[in-house]
Amino acid sequence: DLESLCRCPYRFYANCHVQWHALQPLGSADQMSGLDWGSLVHEFLELLIRPTLDQQVSVEDTARTLLDSDARRLKEAAGEFARDLPRTLSVLPELFQKVAVGKLVKTVTDYFHQILAEICQGNFPVAVELKRKVSFPGLDLLISGQIDRIDEQNGVYYIYDYKSGGSLFPAQLQKEMLLGYRIQPILYPWIFDQEPGGPHPSTFSFIFLGASPPVETTLDHSSVEVNRFLKPLGEILQEGLYLPLSRETLELHQVQEVNPCQFCDYISLCRRFDPGAPGRYFKFSQERLSSRIDAIQSVTRKEGAEA
Ligand code: SF4
Repeated sequence: DLESLCRCPYRFYANCHVQWHALQPLGSADQMSGLDWGSLVHEFLELLIRPTLDQQVSVEDTARTLLDSDARRLKEAAGEFARDLPRTLSVLPELFQKVAVGKLVKTVTDYFHQILAEICQGNFPVAVELKRKVSFPGLDLLISGQIDRIDEQNGVYYIYDYKSGGSLFPAQLQKEMLLGYRIQPILYPWIFDQEPGGPHPSTFSFIFLGASPPVETTLDHSSVEVNRFLKPLGEILQEGLYLPLSRETLELHQVQEVNPCQFCDYISLCRRFDPGAPGRYFKFSQERLSSRIDAIQSVTRKEGAEA
């Protein structure tokens, strides 16, 4: 999980390397977790679009067909999908299953309406849920990625990543991309370039399906040179320097308004609030993680200059 490494090497170590997972108190829930909901939406969109791959049927045409006659075919498809009961649905009581399927139909209906209104794009799909592993430059490691959807139109490829949550401002997304907190816009076009016939002219967009109505945000990744971006991360992996880079430590590096600690489960393990901890981590990171710190500082410097 390179995003976790970009946020904080210690967080990556705890989450991905030794795989300490926080205990969640048991309780009754009236809906599925955000993660399960996201998988369900991905699976349903895959089910709808996969049969049209390489058929010269655009996603826009598929949307039109499925929404015709009060979305009759979309509702039928959702009914069949629910009968096969993906694991995330099957654990819910029957009434909650019905509510989840209704929400699924509404989410996809809203997205398809946005495509028909030409607010979101829907060209000719060439891949869905494309899984690939590529070499990490300079290391004996593989980077794996799963691209949600790739469309094509006139030789240009449109790479999409579905998000089941709400949208963010484009400037915030762009900053998170440059910091590596959202790494798909950097990695996915690069991974796709390694397919036969590459490099391919492409764009990258997030589709925020949880926004009302859904929003498509295209990010400009052209300024990021992938090998250069990955180099400081490779140094951390190679040397095993999994230091906590907390908000307080970054502030000592004169980096403001970057909060790697948001939603982190490891706050009681990294000793971030111990007396003197930020100062110690500042000193260590200055000595041993200087290229990653430089990369973070260059993002915030650029943002300051543009402001
Ligand atoms: S709370 Fe902050 S410093 Fe501690 S592990 Fe999480 S991200 Fe790192």
